[in-house]
This record gives sequence, C-alpha cells and structure tokens, in this order.
Amino acid sequence: MDMRDLALQAACPVVAAPRFGPLPDMENGQRILLAANGVFVQVKLDWLNCIQQLSHELPIPLPYGGVEERLAFTFGVLPIRLIEDFIAAGRRGLPNEVAGALIYSRRSQSLRLALCEPIAVSSQQIDYRVPAMEADETLAVDLHTHGYGRPFWSDKDDRDDQGIKVAGVFGCLHQPKPQALFRLVVNGSFRSLPHPWQVDTAYDAEPDLEPGLLRRILNFYQGRRFGPWNI
Ligand SMILES: [Zn+2]
Repeated sequence: MDMRDLALQAACPVVAAPRFGPLPDMENGQRILLAANGVFVQVKLDWLNCIQQLSHELPIPLPYGGVEERLAFTFGVLPIRLIEDFIAAGRRGLPNEVAGALIYSRRSQSLRLALCEPIAVSSQQIDYRVPAMEADETLAVDLHTHGYGRPFWSDKDDRDDQGIKVAGVFGCLHQPKPQALFRLVVNGSFRSLPHPWQVDTAYDAEPDLEPGLLRRILNFYQGRRFGPWNI
C-alpha cells in the first residue's frame, strides 16, 4: 500500500464495531466506527472522549455491533464557577464583546479560565489572540459574548469554530440572567448542548412540541448523554 495511504489511515482508522465485546480503547485522535446502526466518529483528546453519529444505518445489514453516542469530559463536568467568572468579565467589557477560553491541563487534570487579548474589538465583533498555553494544555471551551445583543452563531462564529472544542456564546449581559448557546464542535460539525442558561434562551428545538414533552426530552438529554454541567 502507498505509504501516504498508510499514514492517512493511521491518522483516521476505520473500526468495525464489535458485536459481542466492548469497543477497544483508543489513543488520542479520531477514528470512524462502522456499526450496525450507522457510521460514527469517535474523538479522543486529553479532555474529551466523544462518539457522534455521522449517518444512519447503511442500506444493507452489517454483521457488526451497535454504537451509542457518547460525550464524556475528563474533568467530569464543566465548572459553573469559571463560566460565571467569564460572564462577570463580559459585563465589565460592555458594550464591547469579550472572548475567553477554558484551558485544560493534562498535568493537573483541571480547567482554568483565560481571557483573550483583543486585537480589534467593538460591540459587534471581536478578533483576539488565543491565550498562551503550557505544553500540557489544550483549549477545551471557547467563549465569547455578544454584549447587549442576543446570543447566536454568526457566520464568523461558524468560520472560526474549527477543530474540536466546546463553544459558548453569551448575550443580553445587561439582564440579571444572561442568555447563552453552547455547542460541541467536531471538525466543522456542530451539536447543540443543553446548559443552565437555556431557560431564557430561544432553544433550537422542535417548535410544535408541547412544553412538558420538550422539558422531558431536554431532561433526558441533560441526564443521559449531554450532562456536562456542574451546577
Ligand atoms: Zn458571535
């Protein structure tokens, strides 16, 4: 086989999901899981182990096992205290936008908040330097504010959100309870994450679901798959 193909396939191997045994562990990186119930991508970093579904089951039966989506953070849950420190910094920066990051240290297995130094900033947008990091550190959660405005994912946010991280945007910082959106970013695909500020946030759920059912669905996701918050 061509050495270049060997290198590419080592960087992103395809694994058939076991039907009878557990999924084998993996080193940091990404791999594609071919399963009876679809195609999945698994990403492992110092701070993250997640499995996301890419497509539903293929049109022919495969003799493999099934895979469930998963989202697990090495640090356990996202610490509300650090996010609240960021909200406070966002309020100090009004009317301008503010950017920050939660940075994960492999050595201490914990997160710290770093505010990003702005290059150009206004109430409409911010360009910023990524904070300096130690060799054992990686950026886990990318945060920015929309000042007085509502939180949403702008075209610029979509362009900026590359690689693998959690992204959060806060808005309406002049109100007692700000609004927010959070999403998991995996190589250009986005997955909304529930979060403690969503009660007052226009959430991208099915609009015609009756509220009780919607609440149960959100609780299900919060409790089962996406419960990343230390409230
Ligand atoms: Zn934005």
